[in-house]
Amino acid sequence: MPYLDNFDRPISYLRVSVTDRCNLRCIYCMPPEGIPWRLHREILRYEEIERVVRAAASLGISKVRLTGGEPLVRKGLVGLVSMIARIPGIDDLAMTTNGILLARYAEELKAAGLNRVNVSLDTLRPERFRRITRLGELSDTLEGIAAGKDAGLVPVKVNTVVIRGLNDDEVVDFARLTRAPDWHVRFIEVMPLGDNADWAGNGYVPMGEVRERIERELGELIPARLGGGGPARYYRLLGTQGTIGFITPISEHFCYQCNRLRLTADGKLRPCLLSDYEINLRTPLRQGATIEQIKCLIVEAVRAKPERHHLSEQVIPQGRTMSEIGG
Ligand code: SAM
Ligand code: SF4
Repeated sequence: MPYLDNFDRPISYLRVSVTDRCNLRCIYCMPPEGIPWRLHREILRYEEIERVVRAAASLGISKVRLTGGEPLVRKGLVGLVSMIARIPGIDDLAMTTNGILLARYAEELKAAGLNRVNVSLDTLRPERFRRITRLGELSDTLEGIAAGKDAGLVPVKVNTVVIRGLNDDEVVDFARLTRAPDWHVRFIEVMPLGDNADWAGNGYVPMGEVRERIERELGELIPARLGGGGPARYYRLLGTQGTIGFITPISEHFCYQCNRLRLTADGKLRPCLLSDYEINLRTPLRQGATIEQIKCLIVEAVRAKPERHHLSEQVIPQGRTMSEIGG
């Protein structure tokens, strides 16, 4: 199988943001108001996304994740899932969601060919959930997680961004969840992007500190494995099936093993989350580019992938919020 490679990193994973819109406004991700949504005509149509994924798959991309904004707010998403699931070469199709609408769609998504979901959840306290997401109900996301498991979209991985003074006092509660079967919790360091520099600066908690707090309360963490690849390091508590993962983009960057490209909802291919450089695919797609021409642009994006991010030198990407790129 041909494959894309950059600095000895095989590139096999495409994250596709299907919309910049969201039913929440998480305080570290989006401003409360004032983000102008992209116009309908600016957003890639499902047929256009399918064409890009088909080109990418023929270059060795085998894993696709749908994200957003909130992917489940885009109409007809189940249809896109079945279009992508049918593309030869795509053997892992996943989604990242805030879970609010997951209970409604989990069965249909599974039937359409989605393999699994990651659900973002930063607190287990209802009032705090409302404060962090500005709009959401905790019970909706918890029901979404349960429905995802029931539908077989497993392993359901819970993603928790840890922010000092906001939810860092809950890391032990989250870790305790993994004593029950089927709970996999991954803690993530908050990243600076767009206008959220305050959150990312004052709120940053290194994962070493989270690990220490968990070990102090719950005992030693034992190295573990969980399928699906990705940059998380996994552990488990003694005698449990669930896992605890740590994702450390800041304290210990994992750029040397980065295997991904990102497609924004408005059709830009972004070689690195933490660099504003993008390649426009939408214009060529709408001018009738052939699959071969799309493939050339994908290869160009892979060549342009930087060796690592430069946050430590204060090079902070400003072009887009996280909700526009998809995390
Ligand atoms: N709406 C979906 C969700 O929340 O899962 C998908 C899109 S969201 C942008 C993808 C992931 O990015 C979420 O897990 C979210 O917590 C994470 N995220 C957003 N802003 C972040 C930041 N500044 N640093 C680290 N993770 C962030
Ligand atoms: Fe929406 Fe996800 Fe960003 Fe929260 S993290 S505002 S749910 S896109």
